[in-house]
Amino acid sequence: MSEGPASVDVLGCRLDCVDIDEATARILTFARGDRPAQVVTLGTEMVVAARRDSRFRATLAGSALNVCDTVGVLAAARRRGARITARVTGVELLERLCASAAEESLPIYLLGGAPGVAIEAARLLAERYPGLRVAGAGDGYFPADRGTAVAEEIARSGARLLFVGLGSPRQELWLADHLASTGVGVGIGVGGSFDALIGRVPRAPKSWRRLNLEWLYRLLREPRRWRRQLALPHFVALVFFEELRAFLGGRKNR
Ligand code: UDP
Repeated sequence: MSEGPASVDVLGCRLDCVDIDEATARILTFARGDRPAQVVTLGTEMVVAARRDSRFRATLAGSALNVCDTVGVLAAARRRGARITARVTGVELLERLCASAAEESLPIYLLGGAPGVAIEAARLLAERYPGLRVAGAGDGYFPADRGTAVAEEIARSGARLLFVGLGSPRQELWLADHLASTGVGVGIGVGGSFDALIGRVPRAPKSWRRLNLEWLYRLLREPRRWRRQLALPHFVALVFFEELRAFLGGRKNR
């Protein structure tokens, strides 16, 4: 990848400037290691939510790797000098990591989604990547007080890579609380990736994705998401005012 900063600040959140190849390589290193690492697929809504929630902010700051999941974060990061040209989405990471995990015999665990979704996603991945070891899969609708039991179940499975699709911020906060007791090398928040993988929530066609319009496609298919998608204009306004403040501050100091 071309030279540029290793990470940039996007409205108070650290974004690591990695492409999919480098993200995959780093995550595999975590998976083989013995210090549990958390990986965040950083989205626009998360950056906005982190401004209001100090615990969530601390979780994002403390994670081992924050990759760029949305066009809003990508555009803001590029304005801050990041030399990244594409998003690193949960679904893509899931597929790339499963391909490598199959080759290296690193067991995976899928946690999240409605009952049956993670099992179906695991079955599909095992079929697509022969040799993939699925240590376990479980749905994401367990009560908060079962979190420790779920983590112990994962520990017993011997998984090295844990994909958590509980939606944000639940998945990041769950990992912050339980990652250490799962025994995995790495835990990654992947949002609705299991649904997308099994076609429960269809992904935007390639042409829409190329034009960075996946958000519009999702809004048209699931209009109830509009409230959540207000995070995007909010995010753009915050970036604008931050840059305006920096510009005016710069003029004053001249
Ligand atoms: N989910 C879950 N447990 C919950 C709430 C949500 O497992 O308590 C799952 C939900 O079924 C979906 C995913 O979390 O698979 C969140 O998907 P969403 O599209 O909201 O996340 P995004 O990809 O936008 O981060």
